[in-house]
Amino acid sequence: MQIIRDIITRVGRLGVSLAVTIVSIVLSVFITMGVLFVTDASPETYEIALIISILCPTLIAPLVTWYLIGLVIKLHQLEEKQRELATYDELTGAMNRRTFFENFNTLKKIANRNHSNLTLAYIDIDDFKTINDTYGHVIGDEVLKSFANTLKGSARGSDIIGRIGGEEFAILLPETDIQGAYAILERLRTQICSKTLRIEEHAINLSISVGLSHSRKENEFAVEQLIKQADKALYQAKSEGKNCIVQYA
Ligand code: GH3
Ligand code: MG
Ligand code: MG
Repeated sequence: MQIIRDIITRVGRLGVSLAVTIVSIVLSVFITMGVLFVTDASPETYEIALIISILCPTLIAPLVTWYLIGLVIKLHQLEEKQRELATYDELTGAMNRRTFFENFNTLKKIANRNHSNLTLAYIDIDDFKTINDTYGHVIGDEVLKSFANTLKGSARGSDIIGRIGGEEFAILLPETDIQGAYAILERLRTQICSKTLRIEEHAINLSISVGLSHSRKENEFAVEQLIKQADKALYQAKSEGKNCIVQYA
């Protein structure tokens, strides 16, 4: 299937249809001539048979090929869409929970092998229920989208961002020590709480709470442990009055 797709991508739908038609004509003529030769047909029969053997594939092959290629293209698009839906959260475009943790496991193994830093941040939008209750669920969705975009904008290329729950996001910062991660998240927190979101006629102010956990060379925590620690730190950030960052001690 992959080979067919590669050919279609390289040659194009028209090119493939043309090639299949030419091959069909050549084969058709070849088979017809073979049969006529074996059956010792008369010269008149040769003439009419040759015309039919060219005409039939010329009419049928391009139509059938064009249609079948269309189906292959459609199938490919559906597979891509399905892969995207299985990987990314549809609303925010961030990785979904499953993909995020798959990436986390991979990056953790790499960090262990290279003895490098890895920091995990759990981010939860403060009082999001109030935003939904005040402005409605649709506006709430827009707030989530806008927040995810800001989060993506503040991340580096190597960082992994996931939406791990309703208004909960996580960011994984490879090769980043706790001070570096704190600085990045503090910039994000300040940016979020100092900006007023304008959605339709509403002016909405947001804030976030962040829990940080960190694994370094001499302290190789398991993935599950890092998650637990980030979660605890986030819980503490909430109980300390929200709109702040807490790192797991
Ligand atoms: P806290 O500061 O303690 O985090 O309070 P909170 O209100 O943010 O947290 P809570 O867990 O009470 O409420 C989260 C809300 O997020 C409730 C749920 O309806 C809403 N939510 C979850 N997923 C979505 C979504 O996809 N779209 C919208 N609009 N709301 C969502
Ligand atoms: Mg919240
Ligand atoms: Mg929450």
